[in-house]
Amino acid sequence: MHVSDVTDRVLTHLREAGDYPTNPNLNAACVVAFFPGGCPDSAPEGWPHDTVDYEDPHATTICPGCLDSWREDHLVSAPVTVPAGTPLTLRFPWVAAQLAPTTPGDGSPADTDPVPADTSA
Ligand SMILES: [Zn+2]
Repeated sequence: MHVSDVTDRVLTHLREAGDYPTNPNLNAACVVAFFPGGCPDSAPEGWPHDTVDYEDPHATTICPGCLDSWREDHLVSAPVTVPAGTPLTLRFPWVAAQLAPTTPGDGSPADTDPVPADTSA
């Protein structure tokens, strides 16, 4: 199999992604290669190892055989066939914009955590 034969993708999102609002790796929605015939034992010929991991079958790619285990901790879309040249993976982080930290007058580190509105008044 050649990497150009990898024509299907799924969209994944970690179910607990909301627990990591500032982590662009854990809270990202990701396009992942899908293998209808099963994740191969080794990366297809031409796989871009410098940008897309292929450590083991089912580790960073999805097939019908590993779909249920992926869905234990990820939302996984139905597979779609993509046009030739579509990247094997794409990452869409949902990091909220961070306000520029302000330094308190006492020189202590700025508290950048969101502060809930004061409802005591
Ligand atoms: Zn698999």
